[in-house]
Amino acid sequence: MSSNLARSQALQTISQRAPMDLGKTEPLSKIWACDVFNLARMEESLSKNAFKAMKKTFQTGALLDPATADVVAAAMKEWAISKGAKFFSHIFYPMTNVTAEKHDGFIITSPEGNAITDFSGSLLIKGEPDGSSFPNGSIRATNSARGYTAWDPTSPAYIMHTANGATLMIPCVFLSWTGESLDKKIPLLRSNSAMDSAAQRVLTLMGETEITTLNSSCGAEQEYFLIDEAYAYARPDIMQSGRTLYGAPPAKGQQFDDHYFGAIPERVQVFMQDFEDKLYRLGIPAKTHHNEVAPGQFEIAPYFEASNIAADHQQLLMVIMKTTAKAHGFLCMLHEKPFAGVNGSGKHVNWSVGNSTQGNLLDPGVTPEDNLHFLVFCAAVIRGVHLYGPLLRAVIATASNDHRLGANEAPPAILSVYLGDQLEKVFNEIKDGKISKTVKGGQMDLGLSQILKFDRDPGDRNRTSPFAFTGNRFEFRAVGSSQSVSGPLVAMNTMLADSLGWIADKLESELNSGKDVATASLAVLKEVMELHGTVIFGGDGYSSEWHTAAVKERGLKNLPTSADALPELISPEVVSLFERTGVLTPAELHSRFEVYAEQYINSIDVEAKLMVNMATTMIYPAAVSYLSELSATSATLQELGIELDNSVAKDIAKEASSLMATSSQLKAAYERHDFDSVQDHMRFLADTVCPLMAELRGYGDTLETLISDELWPLPKYREMLFIK
Ligand code: ADP
Ligand code: MG
Repeated sequence: MSSNLARSQALQTISQRAPMDLGKTEPLSKIWACDVFNLARMEESLSKNAFKAMKKTFQTGALLDPATADVVAAAMKEWAISKGAKFFSHIFYPMTNVTAEKHDGFIITSPEGNAITDFSGSLLIKGEPDGSSFPNGSIRATNSARGYTAWDPTSPAYIMHTANGATLMIPCVFLSWTGESLDKKIPLLRSNSAMDSAAQRVLTLMGETEITTLNSSCGAEQEYFLIDEAYAYARPDIMQSGRTLYGAPPAKGQQFDDHYFGAIPERVQVFMQDFEDKLYRLGIPAKTHHNEVAPGQFEIAPYFEASNIAADHQQLLMVIMKTTAKAHGFLCMLHEKPFAGVNGSGKHVNWSVGNSTQGNLLDPGVTPEDNLHFLVFCAAVIRGVHLYGPLLRAVIATASNDHRLGANEAPPAILSVYLGDQLEKVFNEIKDGKISKTVKGGQMDLGLSQILKFDRDPGDRNRTSPFAFTGNRFEFRAVGSSQSVSGPLVAMNTMLADSLGWIADKLESELNSGKDVATASLAVLKEVMELHGTVIFGGDGYSSEWHTAAVKERGLKNLPTSADALPELISPEVVSLFERTGVLTPAELHSRFEVYAEQYINSIDVEAKLMVNMATTMIYPAAVSYLSELSATSATLQELGIELDNSVAKDIAKEASSLMATSSQLKAAYERHDFDSVQDHMRFLADTVCPLMAELRGYGDTLETLISDELWPLPKYREMLFIK
């Protein structure tokens, strides 16, 4: 008898897979942004005045007047219809990590029964999805749950194609009836503008006279796994929780390092080409792709863009990656730890700030002035990470990312800053007063431009740091692969705004005491280093020595689980930070805490239930079947006078009993609901439920290694991780 029918069918399907035939590919020049209503398209279709107004809004976020909105709406509709669209949709970014959309037809009917199309400026600008089912963290009672979507004219509209049609997608913010943000876009826009104001103050004090709007930039490196879709259907855990809840390690995992940067399997390469063509059509600048460390793991990194657009593009990229993978017979897994025992997936968020007049302020630049700007902005980041490290940890806290952080493959759950040897030395010399005065008539040349080139070599980078300077940007490496980049960007922009504000105050008083800009700046840099230099760490972030030293000697927080980290979102310091900078009100912040806590609780609840279910209905039955086969054979052999070693049967019986006993304990645990607060509930999940799940998995995985392969119902790691 075989109980692995689904598994053997999957193997059969997969043995016949071949790379998809994509037909002729189009040149980049023909497809680039062809489905985007961008400035170039607007210039073609709008009057000079309307285009001018639109361009200003696009570049500075200035309000758009209703008359221009009507003109833009009409042009957008004509363009979309010419592309085959019959519907439009406001697309928005609720507090979950996914996107939401509500589709409306352009159609209206006339009294004569004719159908015509209509799309006014007001329809473009405002939508009203019934928001009651989106998580809002008790900002709105369900009976007054009206939510609004409003067009974000700084992020261009685009067309989404399916096999049978097309829809005009309009990126939007999502807010409550009372004006509170219910989404991930509003705080990002607000954090950019808070950072802009503070940066303007600092640059003005440093003597700059022409300063255009500052914005943050983001380039996200996205790691993901591909497995054959046929396997996924045979695994309830993958289908429902996005990861394997059971699975014994394969003989060959990632120990040979033969996958990293190896030749990409052809079927995957064809998927990537198809996927990247789709991104190009949507104006998403896909730039690099390669194999990652674990078998079946890959990475894609688009070229960086303004963070608001990068965040929208990142969401879109995740959607397109999943749908394209499906068309190629793959399941694209964005979970942070889909397979135990091999590396998990992260999303490195590369971040910098700048404008068109001063350039990238996190680039050391080529002139002494550039060097000084750079040092001041870099110091602001150092101060930010020191003061708000727990916030940075909180914005990446999810049940799934907890599996990755602090394991020996991903950054630790302690936030520190890596600067590289040379830059760390410069900052330490400033701290020690060795560089305090300007040389040669107000000029200060630290030669940073030359020495920092060295750090741009990726080979030299410290891969164990959660927050690293990488030549002209910081790279936040602890972000999870399934997450929206918005939360991390908001936290970084906001901590920077706060630090720049503090620096501006200090600079102002130093300048008032008669110092020149360079001397005053160095005095402030010295103070930043004295107060916050302890967050800089260039050593091995994975080592246990660091874990001890960071906490005991440097006073940094180690927040290993989401239960530890999420409450930091509503610590008095963080509430005050967001309120002061105008990025989130205390009510908005509390609502976020509630939503994220609920997501943590729900994720673990689903996994715990699935584990018990799979233990009871799949693993235990396989154990019992095999035991019954073994005992029947043993009895027959005994009649023939042959003695069969029954140690395997004994082991199976023992593991199967432990499996069921732990299942019952886990069930009793997840059924508990008598908690005084969400904090208590999260603590219980982290301290009691997660360890029980790990224990249960242990029995299941041991059984996998004992039970006949023929009877094992779940596709195994060795099958899923190696792609045909
Ligand atoms: P690595 O794997 O070596 O870290 P990648 O080339 O894979 O580097 O990814 C680097 C990412 O950083 C890309 O998305 C790139 O566009 C982005 N990036 C480069 N410069 C900046 C910058 N100034 N600001 C933000 N992101 C940047
Ligand atoms: Mg990187």
